[in-house]
Parts: sequence; C-alpha cells; structure tokens
Amino acid sequence: MSLTGLCQICEAATAEHVCDRCGRAVCDDHWDEAAGACSGCAAGRS
Ligand SMILES: [Zn+2]
Ligand SMILES: [Zn+2]
Repeated sequence: MSLTGLCQICEAATAEHVCDRCGRAVCDDHWDEAAGACSGCAAGRS
C-alpha cells in the first residue's frame, strides 16, 4: 500500500499514517496518536 495520497476518511488532506486495524491511510487530523489507530477505529473502542 502506498502512503502517497489523500486521507481515506476526509479525502481532503494528505495521508500521513496507515491504521493497523483497518488499513486506511489517514491524515494527522484523523489519526489518534494515543490509540495508534485512525479516529474511526479509536472511536467507540476504549
Ligand atoms: Zn483526514
Ligand atoms: Zn482504522
């Protein structure tokens, strides 16, 4: 998987991280550093 491209959540910002849980490339805004996952995976899981 290439890291080059847009965030697969907002599709507006450049993806900076790849989520280990769902495999989506996400931007900084949609990356939860504490969870080590995208905001979609971090939300709803404590
Ligand atoms: Zn985003
Ligand atoms: Zn995820």
